[in-house]
Amino acid sequence: METTNVKAYGTEAADAPLKQMDISRREITSKDIEIEILYCGVCHSDLHTARNDWGGTVYPAIPGHEIVGKVTRVGSEVSKLKVGDFAGVGCLVDSCMECKSCRQDLEQYCLTGFTGTYNGKDKHLGGRTFGGYSEKIVVDEHFVLKIPSNLDLAATAPLLCAGITTWSPLRHWKVGKDSKVAVVGLGGLGHMAIKLAKGLGAEVTLFSRTPSKEKDALDLGADAVIISTDENHMNSVKGKFDLIINTVPYVHDVNPYIPTLNINGTLVLVGYLGGLEPFLFTVPMIMGRKAVAGSLIGGIAETQEMLDFCGEHNIVSEIEIINMQDINEAYERMLKSDVRYRFVIDMASLKK
Ligand code: NAP
Ligand code: ZN
Repeated sequence: METTNVKAYGTEAADAPLKQMDISRREITSKDIEIEILYCGVCHSDLHTARNDWGGTVYPAIPGHEIVGKVTRVGSEVSKLKVGDFAGVGCLVDSCMECKSCRQDLEQYCLTGFTGTYNGKDKHLGGRTFGGYSEKIVVDEHFVLKIPSNLDLAATAPLLCAGITTWSPLRHWKVGKDSKVAVVGLGGLGHMAIKLAKGLGAEVTLFSRTPSKEKDALDLGADAVIISTDENHMNSVKGKFDLIINTVPYVHDVNPYIPTLNINGTLVLVGYLGGLEPFLFTVPMIMGRKAVAGSLIGGIAETQEMLDFCGEHNIVSEIEIINMQDINEAYERMLKSDVRYRFVIDMASLKK
C-alpha cells in the first residue's frame, strides 16, 4: 500500500523520553479523510501507554487521541466533511461495524475489539496505529467528528477523550437537573466531568486530595469541594450522591466513597485499570443497593452528541498550550497532578 512519511513524536521504549521520528500514513481510501493535525490534547492514557503501565505497548509508540485539525483530502465516497473543514478524532479509528455493540453505536465495546487511535492493530498497514502527536492522520470518515464552529479549536481537542469519557457515564446514568454528582480527582477528565455535569443541570461536588485546587473547582462550576483525606469532611456527605465519577489513574482506596452514595447510587470507575487495593468492602454496597461500575470513552454518535452539546453550551477544556518539544516535561508535571487542567500541543511546533 502506498504511504506518506510524516513527522511525529513518540518513544522507542518504556523508559526512553519521547523524541521526533518519522512514521508512515496510508494513502486515503475511498472512505478516508486526511487531516492536518493542528492541536492534540495530552491524556494521562498517553503517558500510561508510552511507559507501558498497562503492558501491551508496542514500540515505537506515538501517543495522542485528542486530535483536532483541518481536512486536507477526502476519499471519493466521503460525505461527512469536505476539504477545509475542521475535524476531530478521539480514541477510536476503527471497529468491525457489524457486531451487536457496533450496531448499537457502542463502537468502544466492539465485540471483536476496536482499533485504538494509537497502539491499536492497524488493519491497513499492519503493525500498530500511530496517534495524534504527528503532522497528519488518515481516518475512516465514520470515526471522524464534526467540530462546532463557535468553539476554540485548541480547547476543543480535550473533548475528544476527557469530554466523552465523562459524558458517556453522565448520560448512561441519566444525570439531569435533579441529580447529585461527585467527581473524584481534578485533572483532565475531572474538570470536564464538572463542566459537563453542570451543563446537564446537576449539583456537583469534587473529591480531591489537593486543597489548593478548591478555588479552581468552584470557578469551574462545582458547588462544593470535599478533601478526600479528611474523614470528618467525608462524613459530611454520607448518602448524598446518585453518581460518582472516579478519574484517579492509579490504585487507591475506593471504599471511603461508597458510603457517600445515595441508595441505588453508582460509583463509576473511568481512571484506574487493574485490581483494587485494598479490596472492595461489600457491606455498604449491599446495604444500599449501591453499585461500582466501569466505563470506557464513548461511541462515535455519543461523541458527536457531546460535541454538539458543548457547542450549544459553550463548554471547552481549560488548557495550557505547549510545544511538541515540551512533552517530556509535561508528562512529569502530569505525574505530580500539576496540570490546570489539560496540556494541548500546538502541532505547528513540530514543524520547527
Ligand atoms: P490527570 O489529568 O493526571 O488527572 C488525574 C487526577 O487524579 C489528578 O489530577 C489528581 O487529582 C488525581 N490523582 C492522581 N493520582 C492520584 C492518586 N495516586 N490517588 C488519588 N488521586 C490521584 O489524568 P486524566 O487524563 O484525567 O486521566 C485520568 C485517568 O483516566 C487515567 O488513568 C487515564 O488513563 C484514564 N482514562 C480512562 C478513559 C476511559 O475511557 N475509561 C479515558 C481517558 C482516560 P487531585 O489532585 O484533585 O486529587
Ligand atoms: Zn484519553
